[in-house]
Amino acid sequence: MSSRLPGLYTLTVAERRRQVAAAAGLEVADLADLDGGLGDDDAAGMIENVLGRHALPFAVATNFTIDGVDALVPMVIEEPSVVAAASNAARMVRDAGGFTTEVAPAIVTGQIQLTQIADVDVAAAALADAAPMLLARARALSPRLCARGGGPLAVTARVLARPPGPDGGVIVVHLDVDCRDAMGANLVNTLCERLAEAVAHVASGRVGLRILSNLSDRRTVRVTCRAPDAALGDSRCPGPAVRAAIAAASRFAELDPYRAVTHNKGVMNGVDAVLVATGQDWRAVEAGAHAFAARSGAYRPLAVWREDGDGLVGELVLPLAVGIVGGALHAHRGARLALRLAGVATASRLAAIAAAAGLACNLAALRALATDGIQRGHMALHARAVARAAGAPADLIDEVADALAAAGDVRVEAARVILQELSAKDSP
Ligand code: NAD
Repeated sequence: MSSRLPGLYTLTVAERRRQVAAAAGLEVADLADLDGGLGDDDAAGMIENVLGRHALPFAVATNFTIDGVDALVPMVIEEPSVVAAASNAARMVRDAGGFTTEVAPAIVTGQIQLTQIADVDVAAAALADAAPMLLARARALSPRLCARGGGPLAVTARVLARPPGPDGGVIVVHLDVDCRDAMGANLVNTLCERLAEAVAHVASGRVGLRILSNLSDRRTVRVTCRAPDAALGDSRCPGPAVRAAIAAASRFAELDPYRAVTHNKGVMNGVDAVLVATGQDWRAVEAGAHAFAARSGAYRPLAVWREDGDGLVGELVLPLAVGIVGGALHAHRGARLALRLAGVATASRLAAIAAAAGLACNLAALRALATDGIQRGHMALHARAVARAAGAPADLIDEVADALAAAGDVRVEAARVILQELSAKDSP
């Protein structure tokens, strides 16, 4: 399978479906589930008070090679430019090997909070002694996950507060669980609830909260890529200048949290679009990513870029708790189809693809910022949407959009005026 589908953007939706189905080894009819892929009953079974099914555009980004294997990257997002940006950046790094990832084991940490402990030091020592027993009990509570090669791996305790205080002595017990191909929230929450009484008994404390932590800092993905000068430059901006400008933009994000958060938003444009397309809990990943970005005490960029000879090397590290079983995937055929389109058979491959999309979007955003400024490309696409919203017929959308962009006034009212002028010109 090749993810190089040159000119895909020039085709109609029907033609694109034919080409993408052929590339992914699917039938065109299989792609029908991309139009929602969620029946009324499925939707009503997922959340409460359901009235309908919300729609967003579903696209694939092209040109991705990840760990030597091509992938079509499924993306669901409302923001223009992101899919094109991801595809362009993937093209820039493709000939230099594409994206390389290291995906850590799928370890999620559950928390059992214990309160009203009279002597937290004695309790912490008792919990350390009892850790092998508690771990064995936790493993006995999750036989199927253990049989899949995962399951609970460690029980550890940390003192959070000493008496006196409103909650007395407080200890949190962490249960690290390898969730294999599941995101793991329900798995870990269930385990924490079942183990809590035994833990409280050992510590002579009261059971507090029992729930996973979304700071999955053991479940990280590291993705790197190299963008050669030849791919970074164009006729207006030479490669070495773009390289230097992107490295400077990276340093700016490393120095300033106000910039770092926007830099990371660009990363999450790619990550979230893949997560939404594949039915993942993107709030969990978002919360984890930003906590991870702030783990040193200062909010930092998740991705950094360094000059390296005649090219740039980028590295992104972030926690990614994703699954290919469970969660919304039970109900959502469209999300399951997205996994098939991407050729995903393990949660670690899905994490690798989402991270690669994040690094690609970051590269594209920094390149645009370092050269034309972000608005040029953005406004051209936005102008098309505004032209459509003003009622421009298909054959006039480009003309109206170009006029809006040239005037630097991209508003529906301005588009209506341009449309009237064009109609007046055409009338006899
Ligand atoms: P899940 O509850 O559906 O559990 C996964 C199931 O898949 C388990 O029963 C497991 O036995 C089974 N399974 C089959 N094959 C597997 C394999 N190869 N590897 C691992 N498990 C396998 O899903 P989950 O992943 O435990 O929980 C995810 C859901 O929890 C999401 O919908 C998420 O939104 C939700 N959630 C999130 C939070 C949070 O992030 N704070 C809190 C509560 C719930």
